[in-house]
Amino acid sequence: MKQLNLGDVTIDRIQEIEGPGFEPTFFFPDATMAGFEAEMDWLAPHFWDLAANTFIRAIQSYVVRTAHHTVLVDACVGYDKDRPSTPGWHGLKSNWLEQLAAIGVHPDDIDYVLCTHLHADHVGWNTRLVNGRWVPTFANAKYVIHETEYRHWEVHGDGMEGPGSADGCFEDSVLPVMAAGKVELVGNDFAIDDHFTLTPTPGHSPGHCCYEINAGKGRAVLSGDALHHPIQIAHPEWNSRYCMDADQARATRANFVDRHADTDTLILAAHFATPTVGRIVGNGARCKFQV
Ligand SMILES: [Zn+2]
Repeated sequence: MKQLNLGDVTIDRIQEIEGPGFEPTFFFPDATMAGFEAEMDWLAPHFWDLAANTFIRAIQSYVVRTAHHTVLVDACVGYDKDRPSTPGWHGLKSNWLEQLAAIGVHPDDIDYVLCTHLHADHVGWNTRLVNGRWVPTFANAKYVIHETEYRHWEVHGDGMEGPGSADGCFEDSVLPVMAAGKVELVGNDFAIDDHFTLTPTPGHSPGHCCYEINAGKGRAVLSGDALHHPIQIAHPEWNSRYCMDADQARATRANFVDRHADTDTLILAAHFATPTVGRIVGNGARCKFQV
């Protein structure tokens, strides 16, 4: 994805991982292979690997620059974190910080870190290890977390196992930021200037939220894990196996697709593979993702 320029706002992607994902019907227990095949004319080649016969996914953050603020949305898996239940994430050492430098942003330049939710693949770079302690990576940033999300993990920080879970991330990537006094717990009315508006999208996790950007020349939505893969635009009823409240996740996703279908809003999801950015458009009885 090249830099997006929406008038007075620019958006860059910082990508940590991209490639074939889990076995499709393992990751999406409601899905069928026939259901994927029916959408193959637009899924392949960007979002489906025909040779491996599985879906392609990514893990990425977004950096949004306005006239006044530099904002990071989600913080991937992080550097050398202990994630024993997810081998691909355990001890991962990516060039995420180098990519940030390549777009001209130093960690100290970040004014806000917006966490769509607190799963391990969204909070990792919140902290880094300095002299044996996890400390905030973005020294000057306010870390914005929905209060419902924080309160859940405060109680259930290690209550799930497997990928997409906490897996120790609340302790090493959220609590140190809270202890440093850098967290702002927010409700559904949170906004930054005229540009960012929080939209509550619970279901995948209790306090999951999206951020809508309204810029001079366009609109975009940073959608976190409201959708994991473009197939869910055609099948919003297909949850990932890590959606915590199944019924609420389905209802939220169906609303999301309805709200943005056949509009100019650009969808920027946490896990859509390159070219990543696109719109939701009608496609007969369903919708599809148009890059
Ligand atoms: Zn995720």
